[in-house]
Amino acid sequence: MTNPLLAHWDTAFELAPFDQIRDADFAPALDQALAQHQDWIGEIADNPAPASFANVIEALETPVPALEQVLSVFFTVAGADSNPEREALQREFSPKLAAHFSTITANKGLYARIKQVWDQRDSLDLTSEQQRVLMITHRGFLRGGAALEGTADTRMQEIKGRLATLGTEFTQNLLADERDWQMELGEEDLAGLPEFVVDAARAAGAEKGAAGPVVTLSRSIITPFLQFSPRRDLRQKAFAAFTARGANGGETDNRAIAAEILALRAERAELLGYDSFADYKLETEMAKTPSAVRGLLMDVWEPAVARANRDAEILAQMMHEEGINGDLEPWDWRYYAEKRRKAEHDLDEAELKPYLQLDRMIEASFACATRLFGLEFRPLEVPLYHEDCRAWEVTRDGKHLAVFIGDYFARGSKRSGAWCSAMRAQANFPKPTNPIVINVCNFAKGEPALLSWDDARTLFHEFGHALHQMLSNVSYESISGTSVARDFVELPSQLYEHWLEVPEVLSEFATHAETGAPMPPELLAKVLGASTFDMGFQTVEYVASALVDLAFHEGVAPEDVMAKQAEVLEQIGMPSAIKMRHATPQFAHVFSGDGYSSGYYSYMWSEVMDADAFAAFEEAGGAFDPERARALERHILSMGGSVDPAELYTAFRGRLPGVEALLKGRGLAAE
Ligand SMILES: [Zn+2]
Repeated sequence: MTNPLLAHWDTAFELAPFDQIRDADFAPALDQALAQHQDWIGEIADNPAPASFANVIEALETPVPALEQVLSVFFTVAGADSNPEREALQREFSPKLAAHFSTITANKGLYARIKQVWDQRDSLDLTSEQQRVLMITHRGFLRGGAALEGTADTRMQEIKGRLATLGTEFTQNLLADERDWQMELGEEDLAGLPEFVVDAARAAGAEKGAAGPVVTLSRSIITPFLQFSPRRDLRQKAFAAFTARGANGGETDNRAIAAEILALRAERAELLGYDSFADYKLETEMAKTPSAVRGLLMDVWEPAVARANRDAEILAQMMHEEGINGDLEPWDWRYYAEKRRKAEHDLDEAELKPYLQLDRMIEASFACATRLFGLEFRPLEVPLYHEDCRAWEVTRDGKHLAVFIGDYFARGSKRSGAWCSAMRAQANFPKPTNPIVINVCNFAKGEPALLSWDDARTLFHEFGHALHQMLSNVSYESISGTSVARDFVELPSQLYEHWLEVPEVLSEFATHAETGAPMPPELLAKVLGASTFDMGFQTVEYVASALVDLAFHEGVAPEDVMAKQAEVLEQIGMPSAIKMRHATPQFAHVFSGDGYSSGYYSYMWSEVMDADAFAAFEEAGGAFDPERARALERHILSMGGSVDPAELYTAFRGRLPGVEALLKGRGLAAE
């Protein structure tokens, strides 16, 4: 029998035949698919004909169906419905795939052909999308070091290897320090803690073999402990341990590792001809330069500090009224902020939940897409990988556009979090290909299933990514849908969250599970009011981390990372009662791997854009303004990475994003 992963899929919408695929099919299919792909790359590199856009760049863009089929099915089930066999396969596949793709980027013959096309680019009469794909392909090889020769090439390989090792050590040290610390609580120390914290502390104690409940450094325990425990001495002790992770001296200390990582990154950027690692890293982003990032962060920093300083005075006053003298300290902030939150905006999740039925929230996310973009959704009966999955055909004006799959419920076989991926990406080359897009979430099951407010936001967020995939209309797969810069990719998703907060959407779809009554306006007001609470603190702890990350990667790498961190915080006037969200020895985003190095700013960058983009609707005819919706699709959702993101945004908005809408949304705008 032929392996179903390698056969042509003669199914409805060419969906994977999940009912025929067995786990034993994956390994042999992957080997064959990789061999086919390698042969294909060999043919492109060794082609004796003169290099052209068609025989190099379009050839690279031509899908090898076997490889696409194996990878899309495997990564879908490995993430959303794993089992021991699939876990073992994943351990086997990861290094195999890494080796396969790094052989391609290191293929000197292939790079030479790409460079030949690049050198003739001005005489090739390429469309703007083709020019962009050529530029991105060429740049990707250059950034990987394909043009380096001799000792520079050898040194680059050494640096990459050493950075991978250091990143792993950094992560493991952090985990070791988190694992090694615990604080036992006597029964009298539990006063004031809500039941869920006590339960979590007891469970942690049982797991660690302690006699009673313990506080650990897991965020899910320490954060609520700092929020709720009236014991200032215990809060101080726990906070000290939390901020000392990775900086306890000895074997697990991360400070020297961080310094070595920064030095190697600077050297890597220099080998590739960049002024600094930040310049290298930001080249491919919307922000482009360190000064653009710093400009945006400082625009947010000043009003955030002003708000945080006002809040600090209120919290210190609350503390003094309890008879505690002295300054408000970092281990006091969350405790008094929680007391203030309760007094000002007590929002009871239990009261809210019956209004947020999963099925009605799915309907709401679809209905907004119907009003904005004319999309229609029709349930499909097709075999999928788990009985909880649901599928819809997405059409517009009667024409097939995409298949959308929703896999909403938590289960043991699914990794945590929520994500969107394309099981098949949109492309018009070499033939028109309609996308198959999946949203995976971890909501609790129920009859009916009810969501928290955060869950409902997640649903809209992931559906925003799905729209970016489904409305994509570009020629080449490598730049379709969400294949865009990291600081641009969250724009469609975070923007779509705003429609959940539109009062007419909630009054139609947030109806009570038993009575069918719409959500009362007072409840809605509470939900929206709570979303700006303590934003001074949250913005300050985040922006401080982002500014330190940026400073680390500009200019000469610091020998003493803690001294550099202190210097940056001093310069920006960090409030004394707030610490960085991630101090250097714990800053896994930046040091565990390369993903967010000089890129931690990108969360804020996206938030600035989504607030500014939604304001464009409000300034026009409201949340469903048809002209704005058309502009959003035309300039952003359909374009993928085919045009520079700053140009796309400017085409949509008439200008680059400004911070005013974000400051207003976070409650930080000057009164
Ligand atoms: Zn996202």
